[in-house]
Parts: sequence; structure tokens; C-alpha cells
Amino acid sequence: MDEKQNIKDVSNQKDTKLQIDSVDDYANEIVEDDNYQRKYRWPVVLRFVCLHLCALYGLYLSVTTSKYQSLVFVFVTGYLSGLGLTAGAHRLWSHKAYKAKWPLRLFLTFFNTMAFDDSIYSYVKMHRLHHKYAETVADPHNYNEGFWFSHYGWKMMTRHPKYLEMLKKQDLGDVLDDPFVRYQRKFYIPLVLICCFAIPTFIPFFCWNEDLITAFCICATFRWCVVTHAKATVNSLAHRWGQKPYDKTPGHACENKIVVWLAFGEGFHNFHHAFPWDYKQSELNWQYNMNLSAALIDFAAKLGLAYDLKKASAAMVEHRRKRTGEPMPENIEEPKKRSFCEWVISVMMFFFPIILWCVCRFCFNLVYIQVFGDTDKNIHNFILDFLAVHLLPHLQNYFEYIKSQMQL
Ligand SMILES: [Zn+2]
Ligand SMILES: [Zn+2]
Repeated sequence: MDEKQNIKDVSNQKDTKLQIDSVDDYANEIVEDDNYQRKYRWPVVLRFVCLHLCALYGLYLSVTTSKYQSLVFVFVTGYLSGLGLTAGAHRLWSHKAYKAKWPLRLFLTFFNTMAFDDSIYSYVKMHRLHHKYAETVADPHNYNEGFWFSHYGWKMMTRHPKYLEMLKKQDLGDVLDDPFVRYQRKFYIPLVLICCFAIPTFIPFFCWNEDLITAFCICATFRWCVVTHAKATVNSLAHRWGQKPYDKTPGHACENKIVVWLAFGEGFHNFHHAFPWDYKQSELNWQYNMNLSAALIDFAAKLGLAYDLKKASAAMVEHRRKRTGEPMPENIEEPKKRSFCEWVISVMMFFFPIILWCVCRFCFNLVYIQVFGDTDKNIHNFILDFLAVHLLPHLQNYFEYIKSQMQL
């Protein structure tokens, strides 16, 4: 199908009419209330600490004993699970920036569950409030409460009463019409255990004989950890540093190139708060700083799996820029055409995690051989040997005991 036919022209609609999810319309409803003291939700803190300890051990294993296939697996599933959050829960279900046929919705639901952020339903519920009440007490990850709070701390703390009050007023019937969202919500915990932890542990175990501890720590928890923090930079970094060419009013976040790269194309955040329904979240094509979420949607549109892609016209963007944007000097305006050099940089950025890992593994092993003379002498092999000597014989005896009891 022709891509142009798939893109919905919204240029004839009034700019203001389309700002239904903008902080402008709702800011007056919120009265800042600083008396509320948040408390820690200790089960979430404990889960966060345990997963990070496993992920740190996974990082160590990735530069010492893991198989190369496991790293390629992390690289591929890391990008795909990130896209489940950005192209899926965010652009498709929260903002309805495009429509998707069921195979694409199934694909996005699977990888969204693998990312283990929140169920699509919960994410949409919270994210729509973020747009309506950005940087007020009713914003779930209000940046004014600090960098760490907006990054991940908000998930570990109790919710503000004003946020809970606004949450109740939301009508989410449109999201619940989708059976994938309903079933993911209903079976979220077992689905997370399967998609985020079991599948990424057992595929490396059965397909390339990775040991179970390594597969769990690298392919499940380390991948989860990287994707979680990459996505969280949208709420922390992109609400703190960057330019505001489209809307300079508080709550409209910033354009941050590092976040574009880290969060799969989500860092054009000032544009996004000005035009939340735009499927690219940028004036620029997907190749610019690797807007992978837009690339996936464009690719799906070519296959006929995505349609009705909403895009702000150049005239609408220019009008908004002049009306509310920060004055930008001519010489730092974003280039709209890419040079060959920028293409090379984009491709390198895409493969940067693998390049970084190759360099780290090479350097680590070089140092290790110098110090210990042998890469087999490492903590992981020590743990596996310890388990083989102290745990496995007991387990074997136990299973043999059960077998003998069953034979009686
Ligand atoms: Zn935001
Ligand atoms: Zn959004």
C-alpha cells in the first residue's frame, strides 16, 4: 500500500482543537499541594534491588563467560521489547497515533510484556494523566519532585491523592475495547513470568547450551534493566535538558538527542508534548538519530499492518513554533536533509551496544589473563563448581530417594 495513502492528513484541523491531551487545557484544575508525604512501597523497592543485583551479575557474565549468541539475543530482544513500549503502549494505545491490525497488535503486546514496564492498560492510564497534568502533583512522574523520582523513584513510592482523584475521572473504554489489552491486563503477572523471564532464559539454554544462571541474569534481567532505564530517560532527561522549539511553557518537556537514541526515538519530547498524536513524534524522518519506533510503524504500514498514521503538517508545526516556541537562532535549526556522514553515525549508534560490549569483553579478558593467567578462573565458574559439588549431589540423592519411594 502506498505510504502516503496510509498517512492521515490532519493539516485542515485547527491546531488548538488537536491539543486535547495538552497540559494547557487542564493546568488550572490543579492546585499544587506540597503537604503530602510520599512513602516507599517496599515490595517494589525489594523487586528493584533484586533485579538490579541479578542484572549487575549479568553484566559481569556478559564480559567473561557468556556465549556470543546470548549477547546477540539481548541486543535483538532489547530493541524489540523497547519498541513494545514505545511504538505499542505509547504511540498506538496511549495516543492513537496510528491504527494497527491484529498481527501487529499481538507482536507489540508480546514485546510490551517482555519489557515488564506496566500492563498496557496501566501505562495508558498513567501516561494520559502525564500529558494532561505534566509537572504538577497529578503527574505520576512529576519532574518537580526530582530527577530520580521522575526517572524510576515514582514507581517505588505511594501515589499523590490528587493523582488518584484524577485517575478515577478517566474513561479508558477505548483501550479496553482491544482484547489484547484486556487479556494482558487480566493475566499480567503470569504473562510477565513467561515473556520477560522464562522465554529469554530457556531459549539460550535449549538453543545454544547457555547455562541457566547466565541466561537468566543476562537475557532476562540485564536486558530488562537496560530497557527499563533507557525508556525512563524520557521522563527524567527529556524533562530536564534540551531545547523547546515548539512550546516553551512549563510541562512541555525538551528535545533531547541522547534520549532519542536511548529510548528508541522518544526524545523529541517537546514536539511530542505539542503534538501527542503524531506517529513520528518529530518533523524529521526516522533515520534522524535512529527514530526506531517511527521506522517500525513505517515498515508495518508498508506491509499493510499499520494504517491511518497521523502526522502534523509542516504548516501546522511552523505555526505552533512561531506561536509558542522558544526563539531559535537560524544557525542551530535542525537539518532536514541528512548527509552521508550522519547516516554512518546513525548506523554506528544502532550497533553501539554490541561495539561497546566487544571492546569491554576484549579489555576485560586481556586484564584477566594478565592477572590470573586463565579466563576460566572467574567467579561464575567458581559458583558453578560450588553448586556442582555441594548442591547437585544432594538434589540427585533426593530425586533417587523419590524414585525409590515410588517404586515401593
Ligand atoms: Zn513527558
Ligand atoms: Zn506521550
